[in-house]
Amino acid sequence: MQACLLRAPAPVETNPLDFTDVPRPDPGPGQVLVRVHACGVCRTDLHVVEGELAPRRSPVIPGHQVVGVVERPAEGFAAGTRVGIAWLHRTDGTCEYCRAGQENLCDDAAFTGWTVDGGYAEYALADARFLYRIPEGFADLHAAPLLCAGIIGFRSLRLSGIRRGGRLGLYGFGGAAHVAIQVARHWGAEVYAVTRDERHRRLARELGAVWAGGSHDVPPAKLDSAIIFAPAGELVIAALKALKKGGTVALGGIHMSPIPPIDYALLYHERVVRSVANNTRQDGEDFLRVAAEIPIHTEVQVFPLEAANQALNALKNDAIRGAAVLQITP
Ligand SMILES: [Zn+2]
Ligand SMILES: [Zn+2]
Repeated sequence: MQACLLRAPAPVETNPLDFTDVPRPDPGPGQVLVRVHACGVCRTDLHVVEGELAPRRSPVIPGHQVVGVVERPAEGFAAGTRVGIAWLHRTDGTCEYCRAGQENLCDDAAFTGWTVDGGYAEYALADARFLYRIPEGFADLHAAPLLCAGIIGFRSLRLSGIRRGGRLGLYGFGGAAHVAIQVARHWGAEVYAVTRDERHRRLARELGAVWAGGSHDVPPAKLDSAIIFAPAGELVIAALKALKKGGTVALGGIHMSPIPPIDYALLYHERVVRSVANNTRQDGEDFLRVAAEIPIHTEVQVFPLEAANQALNALKNDAIRGAAVLQITP
């Protein structure tokens, strides 16, 4: 099969993904072989490719927002069933976190496109217990960004504590934020977007943000909650400055540049800073249901599989409106 292989992490400007032929994987017990139709391109892929996340499998096929169909009947899935593979590939099910319903924090989890091969390929393997059924209303290309940008954005919204009628700040306005804003507005929240790129500010306004400003602008109203999707630690300070007493800043990314020292007065009055790590399957199921209800519309910029390096470069340069998606089979 054709796939994009990362042999060693390197800056994306050097086009480190090798578009090549590799053997098609064989499903083992509990696994399902998926013929990939589309795979979303996430900032986490950029962190894997550039080595900010240390290699856990090498070479590796990146990609963890995989939409495709079950190739042959397995594990109760009929051939042709449309499914999604997300970042949380498998957990041990036995550690203290799994037993406490916090499988997103599992001590021994596998992650798609990092510790096991992902979806920048014509075929991918999934653990049957971690497969999602994709709601019918979404075309493959538009469904792909729901699987990480959408699900992690949704968990971030939950952990941010935003309530109906509350004011929410979104820092960074890429794939995750452009989905999260649609859920937040569905919940009746007022959204303020902070992002350095004018095209992203325009998209935020189109999607109903009441205000959109640059990284040095301060939202015109105090926020109940904020979510930081951009990997820039200094935004934690900016968000705390914009936050009401008792408010929460949720950090939606897996990697962030160092957070500058925080003046205690910024944190005092019970403000909370918390990270968001992975998601539970329940988050995924809940999100996909809400996404179909709303329904969420994802803006996608489509690249062929062989242009995965280009897609990652565009993502790094803020040049993607909404989410980038690789189209793998028509
Ligand atoms: Zn576990
Ligand atoms: Zn992701």
